[in-house]
Amino acid sequence: MRITQIEPIPVRVPLKAGLTTKTAHGEHIDSPYVIVRIHTDTDLVGLGEATVAPRWSGETSRGCVAAIEELIAPALIGADPTQINSLRAIMDKEIKLNPFTKAAVEMGLWDLAGKAAGVPVYQLLGGQVRDEIPIKMVVGAFDVPQAVSLAERFLDWGVRCLKVKVGLDPEMDLQRVKAVREVAGPTIPIGIDVNCGWSLDTARRMLPKLEPYDMLFAEQPISPDDPTSLAQLREATQIPIMADESVFTLADAWLIANARAADIFSVYPGKHGGLSATLEIMHVAKAAGAVGSIGSNLELGVGSAAMAHVAAAMPTIDSETYPADLIGPLYHEADLLQTSLTLGPEVARVPEGPGLGVELDEDQLAHWRDKTGSET
Ligand SMILES: [Mg+2]
Repeated sequence: MRITQIEPIPVRVPLKAGLTTKTAHGEHIDSPYVIVRIHTDTDLVGLGEATVAPRWSGETSRGCVAAIEELIAPALIGADPTQINSLRAIMDKEIKLNPFTKAAVEMGLWDLAGKAAGVPVYQLLGGQVRDEIPIKMVVGAFDVPQAVSLAERFLDWGVRCLKVKVGLDPEMDLQRVKAVREVAGPTIPIGIDVNCGWSLDTARRMLPKLEPYDMLFAEQPISPDDPTSLAQLREATQIPIMADESVFTLADAWLIANARAADIFSVYPGKHGGLSATLEIMHVAKAAGAVGSIGSNLELGVGSAAMAHVAAAMPTIDSETYPADLIGPLYHEADLLQTSLTLGPEVARVPEGPGLGVELDEDQLAHWRDKTGSET
């Protein structure tokens, strides 16, 4: 099997009314992402998804399309798509960083490798250690009434774990967490995600104030630039610290591990440049005595499927203790799949078909295709 074409397709899918979200990085209203199709000289096609967001990784959808068309595709056309280790090295040589773009292409390679072998991707990753993946839903950094109504909506549906976004205004953050804990009751685990929104001083003041609300974890309380300060915060609080923005690359993971700065590494294929890179980072986390938790950039169907295969295969991604953000399709108007993934309210299931186990819905793809070619 040889690669004949790598086709990047820009799409723009809005979040559902009432489910647009807000964090210390800004508001998420719609998703200008890129679907990737890898064509071969057989009838097999590999699928990938780049959940690019300029404020997150520095990538844009037009940049992703250009990187694929001008650099990655010319280097990969003619190659055997099942030689994933070699093709990763070629991509890394062609273009630095750009993790979400590389992840989309690498997803397509894994999809093809699985389809060619007739097995799900999790089988290629060493087999399945869990067949259901506990998930959590995210309450954005809204005012108290809106946050409460969102939490009630999720809990009424049957959600068993929540993450509350904070990091904009410390007093409002505290009120929001307190209010969500009140509606959730004592048994629903609740974590917070600060998205780098607090200074070190603010984080030092806030974490003790949050301890009475029984926090499952505190994600990225401060900026990613200072593992030593993150380690000091971790020493000073009983709340487990999760590193998200601090861990994009393998070198980032080494720095966080070496500083003993986190109990939990938030991981997912997009952020690290693919499934293999996610596994590498989890090996570093394991050596540091930390566990993983599946994070998210609010993926559509293909990106979520890739996350599900990694979550199903990696024993050290501890979704039973720290439920996964395997939730992107629930927030979007469309997932672009023929058959949607089984997601929520308590668990997600990994697709069972060969490869990633998902197929694109051509009507949805045509409808949500971004024909403007413009960024907002
Ligand atoms: Mg996060």
